[in-house]
Amino acid sequence: MKERNTKIVRIGFINIGNSYPIAIQTMTKTLTKDYKATIKQIKRLEEIGCHIVRVAVPDNESITALKKIIREINVPLVADIHFDYLLAIKAIEAGASKIRINPGNISDKKKIKEILSIAKERNIAIRIGINSGSLEKKIIDKYGQATVEAMVESALNSIKYFEDNDFFNTVISLKANDIRRTVESYRLISSKTNYPLHLGITEAGTAFSGTIKSAIGLGILLYEGIGDTIRVSLSADPEEEVRVGYEILKSLDLYKDAPVVIACPTCSRAEIDVQSIAKEIESKINDMRKSIRIAVMGCVVNGPGEAKEADIGVTGSKGIAIIFKKGRVYKRVLPDEIIETLLEEIKGL
Ligand code: SF4
Repeated sequence: MKERNTKIVRIGFINIGNSYPIAIQTMTKTLTKDYKATIKQIKRLEEIGCHIVRVAVPDNESITALKKIIREINVPLVADIHFDYLLAIKAIEAGASKIRINPGNISDKKKIKEILSIAKERNIAIRIGINSGSLEKKIIDKYGQATVEAMVESALNSIKYFEDNDFFNTVISLKANDIRRTVESYRLISSKTNYPLHLGITEAGTAFSGTIKSAIGLGILLYEGIGDTIRVSLSADPEEEVRVGYEILKSLDLYKDAPVVIACPTCSRAEIDVQSIAKEIESKINDMRKSIRIAVMGCVVNGPGEAKEADIGVTGSKGIAIIFKKGRVYKRVLPDEIIETLLEEIKGL
């Protein structure tokens, strides 16, 4: 995997870029002005290890809520702004750690200049969030549609304007709802600038199809050393987005402090109920931030080998289950004792 070589940008207490770990972010799905519900959702996201949370700020009531939310939470908060530049200014004043603006719907240079001025004064980062569905009119007029080149040109225009105004605290995203344009846009922009990149496939879909789409798109880019923070966009709870984000990073070995469950697909040789054991174990330990490898294997064909390589593992064998720990046979238990035994051992690791 290639190394990333980007500028470092600070978002609250989190640094992104260069060799900093890839930060996982999501977006709340409550009404921001309902600050109690939003705080509750963010608290849950904190518990499962979300690094940065973004909230939509569509109106002044959300700005009022923002102040209350920021007081109660422990993760950096990003304000997502469209159309109204004054909301961007107010969100910065309310204490947002970063704001996201879309050049497709805030294009008046004077207004952007005002945003840059206050962001600079308060050392707040800005994400230039390009979206294939909302490119500025003059770019669409030039290219006819939201092509890769159109999206990149839009980003480069904004970067230039930011830099001309002495603003460099910038993160870039170029999201399309298909993998090809997303991958090619990020590849192209990363060859032209070294600002940190926020990766995502926009409107990826439901938990099932959106997870696959995001894993492929983000996986390709991350493997190529492109991307400093990720957001998986799913029509599902934000917790699901964070979990999928972790799975993507874990699969690429970009995040190590998390459990990995190895489970065989099972077949007629299986002597224990691998599917339900693996599912139950995974649901219990998914949110742990500990590097552990757990193997659940149906029989002795591949079972002992996989289980031995794991920190803790189980394999079915002649009506009994063999528990392996750190490469050695540890004990034999009855099939209905497997889950309890594994969870107990995992706790002690
Ligand atoms: Fe089948 Fe055994 Fe392989 Fe599992 S480990 S898939 S039960 S042969």
